[in-house]
Amino acid sequence: MPYGTGWLSNGQTLFSAQKQLIQFTKVAEADALLNDLRNYPHAFVLACVMDRQIRAERAWLIPYRISERLGNDFSMEILINLSEADVARLMSQPEPLHRFVETMSGLFYSAIQHIWSKYKGNAALIWSGHPSSAEVVYRFLEFDGVGPKIASMAANILARDFKIPFADYFSIDISADIHVRRVFARLGVCPGNPTVEQVIYKARALHPEFPGMMDLPCWEIGRNWCKPRTPQCDNCYMNDLCPSASKGH
Ligand code: SF4
Repeated sequence: MPYGTGWLSNGQTLFSAQKQLIQFTKVAEADALLNDLRNYPHAFVLACVMDRQIRAERAWLIPYRISERLGNDFSMEILINLSEADVARLMSQPEPLHRFVETMSGLFYSAIQHIWSKYKGNAALIWSGHPSSAEVVYRFLEFDGVGPKIASMAANILARDFKIPFADYFSIDISADIHVRRVFARLGVCPGNPTVEQVIYKARALHPEFPGMMDLPCWEIGRNWCKPRTPQCDNCYMNDLCPSASKGH
């Protein structure tokens, strides 16, 4: 399979495209907050920390919902003055913002403390000054509750969507969720039902200078055409290259 075509060129196109408003939630006010890296870089970071075990759109709404409960003020000066109990109350009342609201309240509070103590309240210092991709991923890993998948996803969004310049992109891995793993298997890149590690290392082998570049194209293929039960191969742009296309899954 000529891996340089199709999904990889699609990834390159997305990486090279002009910056646009990123629709994290499809709630205009929430997306405006998350896109405002100049004034509220911590909103993006806190949304990344919340992105666990619930639908992404719901997780990424949490900073905005907290800001509403704070009277539409999401400044770090307001956030740093919240006690852990305040954060727990804001996260849980009048209705819980996360399925695991107790745990996630603690992680939200901890992230605020970390941004304040390590970055003097300016989360943009995580990615400013042309850092290496490894440094940015590492800085996200320093947040309580953030593992390699979320750290890579955060660095990928900053590089690909926010167009933040990094010194390199080597350490931004693919976020191997179940949809990406399914697409890798059907495209014949990995064996059936591959492990997370198999997908990560195969993406590194295919595109070592930026393994995570294949992340969004894979996710889009999975979401739009390569559905778990009924893949719509006739409409998928990988149809000509995909060894599974004619088998009709
Ligand atoms: S051609 Fe079909 S099986 Fe292959 S990636 Fe596209 S939707 Fe999936």
